[in-house]
Amino acid sequence: MQTPTISIHDEWKIIKLLEENGFKKFRYAQIENAIYKNLITDFSSIETLPKEIRTLLTENCYYTSLSVHSAITSDDGQTTKFLLKTHDNKLIEAVIMRHLSGRNTLCVSCQAGCPMGCSFCATWKLWLLRNLEFHEIIDEVMIAIHHLAKEDKKLRNIVYMGMGEPFLNYANVKKSIEIACAQKKVDLSNRRITISTCGIAPVIEQFGEDFPQTSLAVSLHAPNDEVRKSIMPVDHTYPLDVLMKSIKNYIAKTNKRVFYEYIMIAWVTDRLEYAWQLAKLLEWQLAHVNFIPYNTWEWVDSNGYKPTSKIIIKKFQEVLEKSWIPSTIRHTMGDDIDAACGQLALKHEGESLATEKGNTIAKSKNE
Ligand code: SAH
Repeated sequence: MQTPTISIHDEWKIIKLLEENGFKKFRYAQIENAIYKNLITDFSSIETLPKEIRTLLTENCYYTSLSVHSAITSDDGQTTKFLLKTHDNKLIEAVIMRHLSGRNTLCVSCQAGCPMGCSFCATWKLWLLRNLEFHEIIDEVMIAIHHLAKEDKKLRNIVYMGMGEPFLNYANVKKSIEIACAQKKVDLSNRRITISTCGIAPVIEQFGEDFPQTSLAVSLHAPNDEVRKSIMPVDHTYPLDVLMKSIKNYIAKTNKRVFYEYIMIAWVTDRLEYAWQLAKLLEWQLAHVNFIPYNTWEWVDSNGYKPTSKIIIKKFQEVLEKSWIPSTIRHTMGDDIDAACGQLALKHEGESLATEKGNTIAKSKNE
C-alpha cells in the first residue's frame, strides 16, 4: 500500500483528491464533520461516507503526523505537557493549562527550535530546526482536544507561546488560526486566540489586518533599547521606536488592547527606574502588562539569571498603576514538569546540540 501523503487538515488537497476521483465536493463537509465534530480518528469508521471514499482517505491521507513522545501532568493536575515528535524526528512541545475558572488553554509551538536568540529563553539553544506546517500546528490542537475530551473538558483558548516565533512562520500560523476559528472545524472564537511575538514589526501590522479580533501579545521585556538589545537580538533589527510605530498602526486598525510580556530577571530588567520608563513607553495606549518571573533552566548555561522577588514585581505594578496601566503577575503553572517554553524539548533532545550551537553563537558574538 502507498504511504499516505495528505494531512486530513489540508482541505484544499482533500477536495482536489475527491474531485480527481470522481466524487462530489460536498463529501468534504462530511469528512470535516467527522474529524472536528465527532472526533473520529480512523477514516474507515466515518459511516456517513461511502466505502470507496473511506478507502481513498485511508490510502492517501493521514490523521496526524505527530506522535506523543511523552505527556506529563503536574502534581496539581492543572498542567499537561506534551513532548511531540514530528515525522522527521524533531521534538516540539504543547502544554494544556486547566485554569481554576474552568477554561482550558493550549500553548502551541509554531517552529521546532527558534532563531531569535533571546538570552533568557531555552528554545533558541536548539537553534531553528524548521518551521512547522499549518497542519502540524493543528495536529497539536487536535491532540489536546482529544486529551481534554477524555476528561469531559473542552478547549477554549489557544496561545502561540510555545517554541518558535509565530511571525517568522506567519503563512502557516495564519492558516492554522483560520482552521482553529472556522465554524465547521475547531470553532474557537477569534478573541480566544493569542499570538505572542518578540516584535517582528512589519508582521504585527499585517496580523492586525488579517485578524482584527485575535489578541496580540508582545514580548517587550525591557523599556529601553540598551537593555532590550542586551537580552533580545531582535531589538537590533526592530528597535523600540520602530516596534511602537507598528503597534500604533495595529491599534489604529483593531482598536484592541495589546498585552505586553515583561520578564523579571534580577539585576537585569528589574531596576525600579525601568518601571517608570515602562509606564512612559506605554501610557499613550490601551495596554496590559504581564510580568513573568524569570523561569530558571539550570541544566544548561542560563547566564546566571535569577528571578526577581515578588516584592520588587509589586513595586513595578504600583508604578504602572499610577499611569493607569493594568498589570498581572504570571502565575507559573507546571514548574515541576518544566512547562516553560522550550524547556522540556531542550532537556530531552538538545543538550548536546545546545552546547554545540550555544558555543558557536557565543564565539561568533565575541569575534
Ligand atoms: N517567540 C514568541 C513566543 C515564545 S515564548 C515571543 O517571543 O513572544 C513565550 C514567552 O515566554 C515569551 O514572552 C518569552 O519571552 C517568554 N520566555 C522565554 N523564556 C523564558 C524564561 N526562561 N522565563 C520566563 N519567560 C520566558
